[in-house]
Order: sequence, then structure tokens, then C-alpha cells
Amino acid sequence: MFALTLAGARAALRARQVSARELTDAYLGAIEALNPRLNAYITPTPELARRQADAADAALARGEAGPLAGIPLAIKDLFCTAGVRTTAGSRILAPFVPPYESTVTANLLRDGAVFLGKANLDEFAMGSSNMTSAFGPVTSPWTRTGDAAPLVPGGSSGGSAAAVAARLALGATATDTGGSIRQPASFCGVAGIKPTYGRCSRWGIVAFASSLDQAGPLARTVEDCAILLGSMAGHDPKDSTSADRPVPDFAAACRRGVRGLRIGVPREYRSDGMPPEIEALWQQGLAWLRAAGAETVDVSLPHTKYGLATYYIVAPAEASSNLARYDGVRFGARSEGGDLLEMYENTRAEGFGAEVRRRILIGTYVLSAGYYDAYYLRAQKVRALILRDFTEAFHNVDALLTPTAPSAAFPQGERMDDPVKMYLNDVFTVPASMSGIPGLSVPAGLDARGLPLGLQVLGKPFDEETVFAVGAALERAAGFAALPALRAGG
Ligand code: GLN
Repeated sequence: MFALTLAGARAALRARQVSARELTDAYLGAIEALNPRLNAYITPTPELARRQADAADAALARGEAGPLAGIPLAIKDLFCTAGVRTTAGSRILAPFVPPYESTVTANLLRDGAVFLGKANLDEFAMGSSNMTSAFGPVTSPWTRTGDAAPLVPGGSSGGSAAAVAARLALGATATDTGGSIRQPASFCGVAGIKPTYGRCSRWGIVAFASSLDQAGPLARTVEDCAILLGSMAGHDPKDSTSADRPVPDFAAACRRGVRGLRIGVPREYRSDGMPPEIEALWQQGLAWLRAAGAETVDVSLPHTKYGLATYYIVAPAEASSNLARYDGVRFGARSEGGDLLEMYENTRAEGFGAEVRRRILIGTYVLSAGYYDAYYLRAQKVRALILRDFTEAFHNVDALLTPTAPSAAFPQGERMDDPVKMYLNDVFTVPASMSGIPGLSVPAGLDARGLPLGLQVLGKPFDEETVFAVGAALERAAGFAALPALRAGG
């Protein structure tokens, strides 16, 4: 049962070889057994899942099943779910039960999906390790060969990635502001795509940095991601930045192949401190694509080196503004005080964790009078240059290939006392976020210590189809079949 991919489970459900209820019960059992060790879910929703599974079985019996009927998913706890607590991994939203459903999760429900529960994440999706959740860290299902030290699953979508890798879900929703889908995908040996900014509606997703936040799927295979994105995406009048474009058949694009495609190799991604195994895997990925009929060409993205610095101005700036709404009046937790101001102060001091407070302070500083021009405005100008680099490169190539992250998963607790070192995790993922272009991470190999490493495919805006075609070709060539020690059915 646990060996089936999402596509495989869909076929088995349709052939009535397995019922949605059986599949859901198996996954719920696995969550009960393994979640105490992984902490991938903050709030499992077994009753809801069984109700949805029974409805899917009824729809399958009537021959009216939607494309995801009976498919059990984990939902990052940043997506508002009607009647189900939505915490954003923060103490300040711990008691928040939204009266409405996010557009992305509503789209999944429309197509028949089953929600197993709300997945853990870094607080307000700020992080690369899933260590900042107010509900405790997520432990990766992977460990280094011969070393039991618990590792991070990556972040901020660490619960989603760990759930998929440990087979506590067939797929998951996630969000990516600077790498939060792709980096945990790389760390956990699963696939994940951040689509083009605007491809999925942000309505009902707790906001971190609105000009960067994008929803996307995490799943075991590239095709499974394509199937999920097909349901999640689409225009939504409730989000003015959502794109009014048709949603292509992403799964069909996975079968296109790469013959005749031109794949760019951005010179500037070859950073000095890059571990040789990651460099070697990158070269291997390029060789795989050439063997499949693509041509590889060197390109230059000269402003990429400013990606991280500008991201850590823009993202905190927008976060400081978005998080101003948590004041103890309308949402979530409140800590009383002698007067209104003291109530605000106590609520925010007790409600937000250290990383969120740091971001609010940085963001407020870079937006303040006197510093706005020097930091925020300058960062926005550099951001335009980063996008221009990509636009120019895409005149000459169809997609780009890079490593997803500069390292494999690291032990829990490491880098916690050095925020800059933690932020360096995002060096390869942030430029695509700043530019709004799509990026897919594909599991491509293992490092010497037995941990997964991902390769990142970047594409033109709204050309996820080429990104999927390249990603699927890499996946076929890599034949990544390694599994974590801690997993259901293992
Ligand atoms: N690690 C990055 C950060 O901490 C990205 C997070 C994300 O994409 N949500 O901001």
C-alpha cells in the first residue's frame, strides 16, 4: 500500500483494487505510529479524513470521482482550513480556527482529496530547518549512515517534506517564499515545485512576504507534483496577483522529453565553498540531460550574488507589515495588559518566537524613514536586475540547472546561533523567488553520508511545462530509489 505513488494510488483507486477508506486508514495508522517521533503533523485530522475518504469512495462508485478522489494529503499549517485549527507554527495563532478555506485547499477538496492533517513548519514559514516552530522541531526521517544524530528536514515546509518522505502522506501542500518548498524537498529526497508567482492563489494562506509567497506541492515523484499542481493552480478573483491563465496539463508535460532543449548552466552558482559532491552531482545532471538529447550552455546571471542580501531586506520588510495584524484584538492569542498598548506589547512579546521577532525588527528598520531609500528601495532596484538577468538568459536557453541547496541536511540545533549561516541555505533558491520564476527540486543522488541531494530546474515565467519535462528526464536518469530509515511500511 505504501509503495504506491500518488499516480499509482489514483490508478488503484479507479480500478477499485483499494478503497479510499483503506488507503486513508493505512496512512492514519502510520501517522499514529510515527508522528510522535517525527512531529511532522501539528494537528492530525483523522475524523475529517475518514469522512472525506468515504465521500471519495461514494463518488468513485458513482463514476463521478474528481482527479484526486481518495488521495490522502498533508496540508502545511499555513493554509487556512475551515473549522480546522491553523497555527502557522506560531503561539500567536495557536487558538485560531479559520471560518473559511484557502483557495488552494478548496481546489484540492473540489477534486476529491483527503486531508490527513496540518503539517508542521517554521514559525510563519521563516526558516530553513523547521527548528523555529512553536510546536517543536520536525525530525527528518533520514539519518547519516552509522550516525543516529537527528537531522533537520529543511524548512520552512519541513513537516510537509518529512511526511511525504516517511510515507505519512502521498503528497503535501507547501509554500515557498525563498526556498521553502525546494530546500526541504532536497533534504528529504522528494520532489517539490515552486510554480511561477501568481500560478496559485494566495487567498487564505497566512502571509509572510506577499510579493514572494507562492504555494506548490511536495510529492514522491515529479509526475505526482504535476498532478497536484494541476489541481492547486488557477485564477482566483480573490487574489489580485493570481494570474488569469489556463492551467496546462502538467502531467502530460512530464512525458515530453528534453530532445532539442537548451539548458543553461549559470556560472555564478559555482560558489567557492560548494562541497565537491554537490558540484559533481550538478555535472552528472548536465550529463544526464545531454544523454537525453538536450544541449547545455554556459550562461551568466551577474546579479545573483546580491540575491540573498536583497531577499533578507524585502522578505522581512513585507513580513513586518503583514505581521502587524497580530495584535490580540482580531486573531488568535491575547495576553492581557494594564491598557491597550500594554495588551498589544504583551500579546506580541509572548506570541512571537525569536526568529519572527528578528525579522520584524529588521523589516521595520529597513522601512523606517531615513533608511527606506538606502535599504528597501535599493533592494527593490537590485531585484529588478536579478529578474533582468534571468530574462536575458532565457532568450538563449529553455531552462536552467543548478543544485538546490549548498549542503545536505544538517543536525538539529546546528546553525541556530548564527542566523547568517542559516540564511546561506537559501543561496540557490532565493534568486528564482526574487524573480517570480518557477523552480523544481528533483532528488538526484546521495552524498557520502547517505543523505539525499536535489537538483533544481528553473524555467521561464509560466513555463512550468518545460520545467516538468526537464525534471522528469532527470528523475528517469537518476533513478533515485533510496528511502529513509524511518518510514511507514518499511
Ligand atoms: N529560508 C527562507 C527564510 O527563512 C525561506 C523561507 C520560505 O521560503 N518560506 O526566509
